[in-house]
Amino acid sequence: MTTDPRRLLPSVERLLQEPAVRTLLESVPRSVVVAATREAVARARRGRAPLPDDWSADITERAARIGCRSLRPVLNATGVVLHTNLGRAPMAEAALEAVQGVAAGYSALEFDLEAGVRGQRTDHGRRLLAELTGAEDAFAVNNAASALVVALNTVAAGLDVVISRGELVEIGGSFRIPDILEKSGAHLREVGTTNRTHLDDYRAALGPSTGAILKVHPSNFEQTGFVHSPPGEALAAVAREAGVPFIHDIGSGLLADLTPFGLQSEPRVAGAVADGTDLVIFSADKLLGGPQAGCLVGRAALLARCRANPLARAARADKMTFAALEATLGLYRDPAVALREIPVLRMLTITPEALAMRAASLRDAIVAECPAAPLPRLLPGHSTPGGGSFPAERLPTTLVALAPGSRGADALALALRLGDPPIVARVADGGVVLDPRTLPESAFPDVARGVAAAMAE
Ligand SMILES: *Cc1c(COP(=O)(O)O)cnc(C)c1O
Repeated sequence: MTTDPRRLLPSVERLLQEPAVRTLLESVPRSVVVAATREAVARARRGRAPLPDDWSADITERAARIGCRSLRPVLNATGVVLHTNLGRAPMAEAALEAVQGVAAGYSALEFDLEAGVRGQRTDHGRRLLAELTGAEDAFAVNNAASALVVALNTVAAGLDVVISRGELVEIGGSFRIPDILEKSGAHLREVGTTNRTHLDDYRAALGPSTGAILKVHPSNFEQTGFVHSPPGEALAAVAREAGVPFIHDIGSGLLADLTPFGLQSEPRVAGAVADGTDLVIFSADKLLGGPQAGCLVGRAALLARCRANPLARAARADKMTFAALEATLGLYRDPAVALREIPVLRMLTITPEALAMRAASLRDAIVAECPAAPLPRLLPGHSTPGGGSFPAERLPTTLVALAPGSRGADALALALRLGDPPIVARVADGGVVLDPRTLPESAFPDVARGVAAAMAE
């Protein structure tokens, strides 16, 4: 027989008449069952997966998956603290409470309670941002990329923006500084070379058509060797002499002092402000540990112009963002509280000794759930800060290594991802490893159950 089995696939109508599928229809909306059935047949036709032995079971499983929300919580066992694909910063308890408070009802989002008249949403977090960074004024928009667009469009539309060739960087998928700059209406005026740019390179490029000097923090890589770029302070002085604004995109909004923990390569917001920078731009969901937002801090007159730009309206953040941002910033008023309460800072500063203990207790929880499986091993390893921060830092940790068995590490990692809750682990050296740095202890029972279920498959 040479007949291709894919030509003999059952029709969607016939599958919907199967007894098990009809039973499914009693508890699951028809649209979901139909979509699941179509998906099962389409997959089989395309030959992406082996033909199911049991069509009803396949349809039931697909229907369960379709019925789930797509944006689900996952357990991050990768050890990458700021994992952009996993939603960057987990938020502090205080931020969650603040979100809950404003999301469930009405709020003073754009309302001046004292005067009883319209207020400004960009006032939320304004005082705290200024207070914590030493800046004259501040406001937040939807993310740092849009903050940069707003700033460049406000001060430099139709004019040159002078930037070092070493800083024409790509930050993530679709964020490239030269593209963003052109889209904001400014003209790119690149100076210097990839590895070395001097103050005189900037000076030589300044003229009547200059709109701003821009410095961009090379967040996700580090240059070493024969390299030079002028410090922010010197660039601020050159810009001041020329009467143009100096804008510094520092990437991560580091407010805390992490040098006691050996983390010193990221610029702090207060330092960039103290350089004399006119506008400092940073993300709120990286090292700041808050919600997705982009903060602009700096000179009041410039910020007033940015706020009045229609693009700022197009990039405005919502009430939940402002609630979470204000609550997160509030924790920084006491640095010790910030280190204790903000998950990102807690995960970055946890000691190797504490991680070794957590790894042991994670292993014990797994052994208790699956006593018959090979004993997970504890291995020395490294976590990474991630999210384009501290690109050169590797933080020592202790990993829990699972024996993947005969089907291999990728299959076990897949089974972990498809569990409930999904567990995203690291595949390394042919094994699957879990890094306790990014797993809260409260999640250990879920991790253990998820590992047991994935191992049993
Ligand atoms: C991450 C980053 C951005 C983009 O920030 P988003 O908040 O993700 O838009 C911009 N510039 C630098 C230097 C960054 O590191």
